[in-house]
Amino acid sequence: MDYNQFFNAALNRLHDERRYRVFADLERIAGRFPHATWHSPKGQRNVVIWCSNDYLGMGQHPKVVGAMVETATRVGTGAGGTRNIAGTHHPLVQLEAELADLHGKEASLLFTSGYVSNQTGISTLAKLIPNCLILSDALNHNSMIEGVRQAGCDRQIFRHNDVAHLEELLIAAGPDRPKLIVCESLYSMDGDVAPLGKICDLAEKYGAMTYVDEVHAVGMYGPRGGGIAERDGVMHRIDILEGTLAKAFGCLGGYIAGKAAVIDAVRSYAPGFIFTTALPPAICSAATAAIRHLKTSNWERERHQDRAARTKAILTAAGLPVMSSDTHIVPLFVGDPEKCKRASDLLLEEHGIYIQPINYPTVAKGTERLRITPSPYHEDGLIDALAEALLQVWGRLDLPLHRKPLAAE
Ligand SMILES: *Cc1c(COP(=O)(O)O)cnc(C)c1O
Repeated sequence: MDYNQFFNAALNRLHDERRYRVFADLERIAGRFPHATWHSPKGQRNVVIWCSNDYLGMGQHPKVVGAMVETATRVGTGAGGTRNIAGTHHPLVQLEAELADLHGKEASLLFTSGYVSNQTGISTLAKLIPNCLILSDALNHNSMIEGVRQAGCDRQIFRHNDVAHLEELLIAAGPDRPKLIVCESLYSMDGDVAPLGKICDLAEKYGAMTYVDEVHAVGMYGPRGGGIAERDGVMHRIDILEGTLAKAFGCLGGYIAGKAAVIDAVRSYAPGFIFTTALPPAICSAATAAIRHLKTSNWERERHQDRAARTKAILTAAGLPVMSSDTHIVPLFVGDPEKCKRASDLLLEEHGIYIQPINYPTVAKGTERLRITPSPYHEDGLIDALAEALLQVWGRLDLPLHRKPLAAE
């Protein structure tokens, strides 16, 4: 039997649908964010990264790099096992205390990624609630969808950020049924924000538990970087907050924070926590340094918002199709997978600008886009050069300028 044919056929399907993905071979340069080296087929080139989720450049912050090096030098690299066996180490314990404090919760629990925290966190929580009904936002991230699926309980999807629809479903479920509302605070493909206050009102009125993914908001919103829930003054009303250490905190790992008993139960029952090696001490120390820094420093947050606002203003003034966004995300509408990929290739090859195309299944077909994430370190000159490059690419690909926004935006 020629097993290879199955895999080649699968790859060919992706090529046919223009969904085959190619990764650029990049090397970041510590201290020169957002500049990087691209190991292109024709040799090394300097490029500017415009799509990193290291939103604040903390992955290169001297305090963060310093903490990682210092800890690795002092205690070595790996954790030495699962938490149960030999993996619970001091930097990890300190990090969990830091995260609980960040969110004003009794406890927190670390996982090897934000993906795992959603997948194993949501499924474990829901399995521990008898006859649980999960109410999940239609645009939730794949890691949450997997968590909901693996929970194996009843689930209903409410229209994206539609609290009236959520309320209908809560009423229909009845007061006696245990209900878990699962949503994100900031949706990173459109840059829109969930009405967390209203969701909390409904959860309290109808007796539901709340689980909110703050992956794209922690570090960046709220006076101490606690996220949108902190900014909106509702952090204490949300039962479980989930976040990542891999985006604004510039490291790796995911976590949930909540009441001590909830966290202890997940610690005790979640397979994706129990059966995998703990995060290395150096990563934990680095993450703690990033969180501590952002608890007191507002410079990064303010400058980040300023850069995002300027990028939106400059691109919009140039007639480029900036989609409406309430946050630091700057989506640029393309609406065609082939042209989206071509635009990304042209930007990289001819302008030294790296912006990954966002195609189906990450976003709906027909809404393909370039997703731009300005950081505190994208200076005026870089923004102006970006606008100029985009205009040239738009011309080359015959993409429309001064487009009318979609009704849904
Ligand atoms: C990136 C992302 C995750 C996963 O976090 P990682 O730490 O990268 O695994 C979870 N939820 C959302 C909404 C994300 O965008």
